[in-house]
Amino acid sequence: MLALIKQFVGGMFSKDLGIDLGTCNTVVYARGEGIVVSEPSVVAINKTTGQVAMDGSAVGNVAKDMIGKTVEKVVAIRPMKHGVVTDFDVTSAMINYFIHRVHKHRFAVMPRLVIAVPYGISKVEKRAVVNAAELAGARRVFLIEEPIAAAIGSGLPILDPIGSMIVDIGGGTTEVAVISCGIINGAKSVRVGGDELDEAIINFVKSRYGLIIGTQTAERLKIDIGSLIPMDEEVTRAIRGLDMSTRMPREISISSREVRQALRPAIDKIITGIKEVLDRTLPEIAADLMQQGITLAGGGALLRGIDKVIHRAINIPVRIAENPLHCVARGTGAIIENLDKFKVTLESDNDVE
Ligand code: ADP
Ligand code: MG
Repeated sequence: MLALIKQFVGGMFSKDLGIDLGTCNTVVYARGEGIVVSEPSVVAINKTTGQVAMDGSAVGNVAKDMIGKTVEKVVAIRPMKHGVVTDFDVTSAMINYFIHRVHKHRFAVMPRLVIAVPYGISKVEKRAVVNAAELAGARRVFLIEEPIAAAIGSGLPILDPIGSMIVDIGGGTTEVAVISCGIINGAKSVRVGGDELDEAIINFVKSRYGLIIGTQTAERLKIDIGSLIPMDEEVTRAIRGLDMSTRMPREISISSREVRQALRPAIDKIITGIKEVLDRTLPEIAADLMQQGITLAGGGALLRGIDKVIHRAINIPVRIAENPLHCVARGTGAIIENLDKFKVTLESDNDVE
């Protein structure tokens, strides 16, 4: 009885949320409001106490700024490495932080959550997400497969008997999926995402210039001057790091052409993944895709020229979703606004007992 009352009260004072727990970014949609939070999926932990640093507030932007610069006693963790829960308590602390970011009060916060999880994760991994969310105070938890959420958030007609392909280029992986009638008909997860692109830049700079740069510097370079097709005007950037032999700080200048050269092999792996999924697609669905084109989502879709190089390789129209960083969260949001309509696509907490 007490539990029922608690649930009822919790429901009255809580906003239902859709959450994209990405490897890089967590994006939260509040029912009736839209996207309300978008912050890095990073938590800073105090090594001595094992607790979230700064009295529980070192999550998101604050924690990301600490990466690579953390003092001895604090370690910054990305608990969703490769899209699955690697550290249960930290994930729960992170969900808890995001739930409370959205609620101004602390009283009886027990929302219903729709959480997007990577396609193909095991029951145990799903259970871990549900438990982490429940520990963070969720009253009900529904899981949706990320590619379906991304497709809904990109405006694709996934419930119809029409084939759609979504390519979600995230931080850790690229998820390629063909969806029709609300289910995934073919999918592949390629272990190449934004992180690997940053890594490719780091390795390029190391081998060409003997300079060691950090991941933040590499990511900034990718976002600022990264381009997969020749730019009208190629640009250069000064970057700083540690000289490999002298171990002293040094500055070099790198061009957008060089960054392109560094990125290309990793992009080719994404293209190979897309081709593999296309290769296994049913003829009728392939015909739909020829007509509808494929849709790119996730932060990687913002890389200049990525639509053009993919189009050149597969000869099917390629579209970039509107605000690709928010697609998955927008999809979870559409679901939380209309649970009934999307019920066929969901797994509830009861299904993963
Ligand atoms: P995840 O779902 O794994 O959290 P996101 O979809 O949030 O990943 O995408 C994060 C990735 O997108 C990061 O690797 C980031 O560097 C990359 N990214 C963000 N903006 C851009 C941009 N303008 N150009 C290229 N990559 C970008
Ligand atoms: Mg994502």
